[in-house]
Amino acid sequence: MKIKDIIKDQYGILYSSELLLSIILLIFIIGVIANLSDGLNERMISEEEFSSLETIAIESSDYLLNNPGNPENWEDDEGLKNGIVSKNIIPGLAIKNKNVENGEFFDESASDEMIMSNAISYNKLIKIKNNYDSLVDSNLLNDSVISSMAIYPLNSEIKPIEMGYDFEDKNDNVNDNNIVTVNRTVKCDFYSNFVVYNFNDFELFGDDYNKDMFCNHDTNPYLTNHSNDGRSLWLCKNFRVYKESLDEYNYYLISDESVKDTGTYWILESLNRTSENKEIINQEVIDLNPFLMEDLGNSSDEIYSIHFNVPKNRVGDFKTVLVAIPKNMTDVLISNDELNYDYFKVQDVNFILKIGYK
Ligand SMILES: [Zn+2]
Repeated sequence: MKIKDIIKDQYGILYSSELLLSIILLIFIIGVIANLSDGLNERMISEEEFSSLETIAIESSDYLLNNPGNPENWEDDEGLKNGIVSKNIIPGLAIKNKNVENGEFFDESASDEMIMSNAISYNKLIKIKNNYDSLVDSNLLNDSVISSMAIYPLNSEIKPIEMGYDFEDKNDNVNDNNIVTVNRTVKCDFYSNFVVYNFNDFELFGDDYNKDMFCNHDTNPYLTNHSNDGRSLWLCKNFRVYKESLDEYNYYLISDESVKDTGTYWILESLNRTSENKEIINQEVIDLNPFLMEDLGNSSDEIYSIHFNVPKNRVGDFKTVLVAIPKNMTDVLISNDELNYDYFKVQDVNFILKIGYK
């Protein structure tokens, strides 16, 4: 028989369609097997391994959030700046709080320190980010697992910080079942420890607000009185600046964006150089060093006073702090776009620790 005849033949046609069906089935079966063996190549962890992973994740999170780390002030270790990480450093994120009163500013605190509960240090977090593999994977987790850490601020004005292993990487076959995630809501200090004065009296006292601090404008007959009238409120504070501090710190007045359209006026003066010059606040960041410098050329310290005049119906939008930022950090804050009011408040963040087996 010739080929032509076979195709024409009734049975022949049947045979060739059966053949086609078989080929399709075969391809399908090969596909299923290939898929199955792919799955078998991924390491499936046992129940015991998973529960030990859970233990590591929970204990590591507890340690990081409740301990300031070892040795004390590990975050100031000089080596960390150059990526040299001592084996002895076990990082912790907890804050040893300094109980600083409003208006007092200490570089180092001499007063009693206590660990703040559920509050983490932004400075320590950044130090961990810059040396993650050594500090976390090696020193804390003994290279037994892969891990990542992140904070997601609830305030959308503040950027999340992520570090460590990239579990989202699709080219990497880490099975989701081999990962444990711990999520805790905690407070993060960000740059709040640089605040010299938090002008939050309106917020604290509400309708009961009374100007509490001595204001030289009320006692000096040559100066305009700063007593509150029906339409606006005065907030007046005194603070001392040392010449040495001015060499080490940049002083800024930092306001929330909302302050710009409130019609708030301010006066900055030294007690020897009083001023009636009310200026409207229309900038979020005001550099104070040039002004402070004028009085500290010949004296070791000076008392300044700052006065705000806020329309009564806009006191809720008056959000302003006086900050002193170490000079060697100022450029970093500016380039990271962190010289913003929100970064000088303690903020709620979601702390996420992920731990997995590869
Ligand atoms: Zn005043």
